[in-house]
Amino acid sequence: MKCPYCRRGDFAVVDSRTQDGGFPVRRRRVCDHCKRRVWTVELIEEVPLKVIKKSDGRREPFDSNKLRTGLEKACYKRPITDQQIDTIVRQIENEIYARYYGEVPSSVIGDLAMEYLRQLDQVAYVRFASVYRQFQDVSDFVQEVKPMLANGKGAPPRRRMR
Ligand SMILES: [Zn+2]
Repeated sequence: MKCPYCRRGDFAVVDSRTQDGGFPVRRRRVCDHCKRRVWTVELIEEVPLKVIKKSDGRREPFDSNKLRTGLEKACYKRPITDQQIDTIVRQIENEIYARYYGEVPSSVIGDLAMEYLRQLDQVAYVRFASVYRQFQDVSDFVQEVKPMLANGKGAPPRRRMR
């Protein structure tokens, strides 16, 4: 950390303290140039994540249960355990909390869900895609499954403009 006073020295940590090992963490810092000593405080900022809906741009609180329900529906009667679904939910949560601050477009969550399902189970993937992408007719559906039929492995579908 650069010293905010002289803007030349390095504001190095010389001591860290927490109350009962929790937050806030206080760090004693000293500038190696101007020798100024201060405490800095480290807090966890909890920002509730909101989802921007594709249909009308409204925001609603991110709800992992809703995501789980969508995945469960797609995985109905497929050889997929609750744990596997939990893992996907957690991975998606981790990714959106890491990449977005405050707001995330619903399309990002949908695309991530498709990506994970594609690796897991092709039937679940196509089910999810058919709901999520709202296939208009059977040719859309064929477009989606064609890459899978071609190599039997489930190649990534061509990204379409939305
Ligand atoms: Zn300084």
